Amino acid sequence: MIGISILGATGSIGLSTLDVIDMHPDRFTVVALTAHRDVEAMAAQCLRYRPQLAVMADPEAARHLADVLGARVPGTEVLGGSEAVAEAARLPAADYVMAAIVGGAGLMPALAAVRAGKRVLLANKEALVMTGHLFMDELSRCDAELLPIDSEHNAILQCLPQTRVSGVAPDGVRRLLLTASGGPLREWPLNNLNEVTPAQACAHPNWSMGRKISVDSATMMNKGLEVIEACWLFGLEASRIRVLVHPQSVVHSMVEYVDGSVLAHLGHPDMRTPIAHALGAPERIASGVAAFDPVAAPPLVFEEPENARFPCLALATQALAEGGSAPAVLNAANEEAVAAFLDGELKFTAIAAVIEHTLSYLDAGEAHSVEAVLELDRQARALARSEIRRRAS
Ligand code: NAD
Ligand code: MG
Repeated sequence: MIGISILGATGSIGLSTLDVIDMHPDRFTVVALTAHRDVEAMAAQCLRYRPQLAVMADPEAARHLADVLGARVPGTEVLGGSEAVAEAARLPAADYVMAAIVGGAGLMPALAAVRAGKRVLLANKEALVMTGHLFMDELSRCDAELLPIDSEHNAILQCLPQTRVSGVAPDGVRRLLLTASGGPLREWPLNNLNEVTPAQACAHPNWSMGRKISVDSATMMNKGLEVIEACWLFGLEASRIRVLVHPQSVVHSMVEYVDGSVLAHLGHPDMRTPIAHALGAPERIASGVAAFDPVAAPPLVFEEPENARFPCLALATQALAEGGSAPAVLNAANEEAVAAFLDGELKFTAIAAVIEHTLSYLDAGEAHSVEAVLELDRQARALARSEIRRRAS
């Protein structure tokens, strides 16, 4: 049996992971589950999966969970706090760790899984964006295995030669073609974008996801973060990654080879496919996703991204070109701006402005340790928050 620890078990990716695991009771067993504050969802998961360890990142929520469970799951230890989340990532019984916490909060737990030499299924792209080469260095130092869950990166992985090494440019590859749906605002009148509400920004046409990544898809910061993620995962510079808007989300990405071959990965937009790929690799296992019928599929369209509509995409490319820890600053400012937008404190179009302000005011040199990245992350969040307050007043 393969032991699995799911970080962010109550979220969109966490639930899809449990769906796939449910289909393979003879192959996988859930050994640890973590969540932030959602006690009700976590209690239901504990009763069903009876993990060794259940962690609430919020200590108050952990006490509540322990009360709710009482003596009903005697084999489950309940812990609280962020250090306990990292413990769930290091748990000896966990062979694989699904890193599906949203945002910078997922960094230390994801790194804990890497440092414990696990197979790490990485949904939490922010962790890699923040720490870049530090993350990749830890991966090789600790002999851990990294499998991307982001549908685009998982698709690219599937189109690359089997012999490829994490973080090293594969032979014969000319470019990666990273597809993007364009999100729910692709056809909105440009002049009305400042009126977009959180509900409208989260109404993604093809994917059902958590609220933060849904807003990132609407601004296309998600694709910006994914370009940075792809650079680190596949060892390629940004100039060899082309972003294409593809509203149907049928082609999940492509790899262009020097001989003119282009390999594409197609399927329904359903995260259970990349999750099943990463859980089963090198074997193929069922995911519960319906068979894909090309005849029934809509006509496939590909377009250049519109720069005026998606300034966040250019900001991400700029941060990448600037190098050092600029991507960590970009990520921190984006998280704060998106949270403020979701709370009704910031206009949709001001998300990019807050990020641009933060990037220009903070000098992000090369960070030589994860602690230095975390310090920069704190500074960038403080700066972004003061800019958000200034705009609100
Ligand atoms: P979500 O908001 O649905 O779930 C987030 C999970 O993280 C929840 O279990 C929540 O309890 C936990 N969490 C939140 N804040 C936390 C904190 N401070 N400390 C500890 N745990 C915390 O998000 P999601 O859509 O599942 O996305 C998770 C990650 O996967 C993100 O990094 C996202 O970019 C990535 N991703 C998601 C999708 C998707 O389809 N949802 C696709 C590709 C990549
Ligand atoms: Mg993606």
